[in-house]
Amino acid sequence: MDFRLTPQQELFKRTVREFAEKNIAPRAREIDQKAQGIPEEIIQGMVDLGLFGVTIPEEYGGTANPGEEMVYAMITVHEIARAELSMSLPVYTLLCLGWSYLLARHGNEETKRQVLPRVAKGEWFLGICTTEPSGGSDLANIKTTATKKDGKYVINGEKIFISGVTEAKKRGGGHLTLFKTQPELGHRGETFAYVPLNAPGVTTTLFDDMGRMGLSTGGIAYKNVEIPTDYVLGEENKGFYLLMEGFNAARILVCAACAGGAERALEITAEYTKNRNLFGTPLAKFEGISFEIADDWAKLEMLKNQLTKSAWMIDQWYQDQSSFTRKDINAAVAVCKLTAPLLCLDIAKHAMMHHGGLGYSKETPLEMLMRGVMSYVVGAEGGANIMRIIIAREFIGDVAIPYK
Ligand SMILES: Cc1cc2nc3c(=O)[nH]c(=O)nc-3n(C[C@H](O)[C@H](O)[C@H](O)COP(=O)(O)OP(=O)(O)OC[C@H]3O[C@@H](n4cnc5c(N)ncnc54)[C@H](O)[C@@H]3O)c2cc1C
Repeated sequence: MDFRLTPQQELFKRTVREFAEKNIAPRAREIDQKAQGIPEEIIQGMVDLGLFGVTIPEEYGGTANPGEEMVYAMITVHEIARAELSMSLPVYTLLCLGWSYLLARHGNEETKRQVLPRVAKGEWFLGICTTEPSGGSDLANIKTTATKKDGKYVINGEKIFISGVTEAKKRGGGHLTLFKTQPELGHRGETFAYVPLNAPGVTTTLFDDMGRMGLSTGGIAYKNVEIPTDYVLGEENKGFYLLMEGFNAARILVCAACAGGAERALEITAEYTKNRNLFGTPLAKFEGISFEIADDWAKLEMLKNQLTKSAWMIDQWYQDQSSFTRKDINAAVAVCKLTAPLLCLDIAKHAMMHHGGLGYSKETPLEMLMRGVMSYVVGAEGGANIMRIIIAREFIGDVAIPYK
């Protein structure tokens, strides 16, 4: 057993941190305030370091270290999130990394050659598109359908709250999208495929979010949108299971973003409370403050351990599928996703409170973190109760599934 990062992973972490502190952190407020996307120089700097390729094999233009993809992706997202507390760039990055990882494993050869090199080069955006107006938690009951016609799928339906709508439209790329190919079979009749955002028949709307202002969220409508059958991941009607596999990777990265943001918020508040003098002594001397920081630090350390273990489990599983069961991984990841967004929110809130009135202002980046992380608290990539259902099912058994 060894809990250390390898020397190469340590070096990578230091390199990303240096880049992020120098090039991203000074522009975080601008990304949030301008709400006009991620500056191109930042994307290019990340491309130069190979960061959009860490889950993409070399043969598709990526920089993946085989068998360590999730660990490298986790480090990348964690370090980017420390620097960009609005969560716009961390989420942009984690979506591209997480869903490329699944496409690299289950995509058709032609599709992988078309999409993955462009994502690795930072040209295209790749995201996930499952949520519908009828409910994002109940993905067995989506309404979007596709029928096969002349060797193509014709998609009709509507999705909402989809991240990266403007980015995919402007830069190119699209979303791995869930639709029904045999509606009468419930989740066993769902298929998962790459759908370019600029395909004819796709229209979009935009939502006015409270945070993550540098990354768009919107609705996508499909009216007779045709995609080649090559775009399907795995097999027709097996999409739900692939989506769940992809969610495990994506959730690890969401939690890495939360852990990175929380870590930075704790550092900011430790520094502030050391230097803020009240009643003739540093604020950090008061146990009402220091014990709360200690509690938060302890919880964050536990989260980081669970996160590293879960990322490692996924990497192991792809090397040797007898190493863990899918259920082991589902439960390990759900523990992270249940914990990370709420812990990050708590830490942001505590840090704001330690700053008094300053914490409510835009003088610190803490309020950006609170607004950004709320997206994961309300449920992006699966709400807390959905994680509780997964954990209860693994621990108690199928009797704990409320909808069976
Ligand atoms: C900023 C942002 C970005 C997003 N980006 C994407 C994206 O890129 N792609 C995408 O597909 N989706 C995206 N989403 C949507 C997100 O995945 C959904 O919001 C989430 O899955 C919850 O779905 P819902 O909003 O329809 O809530 P609902 O499914 O209606 O759930 C409402 C609440 O009830 C809880 N709940 C649901 N079922 C149960 C149950 N059985 N027992 C107890 N509680 C339950 C949920 O956890 C939630 O808190 C994004 C959302 C946000 C806010």
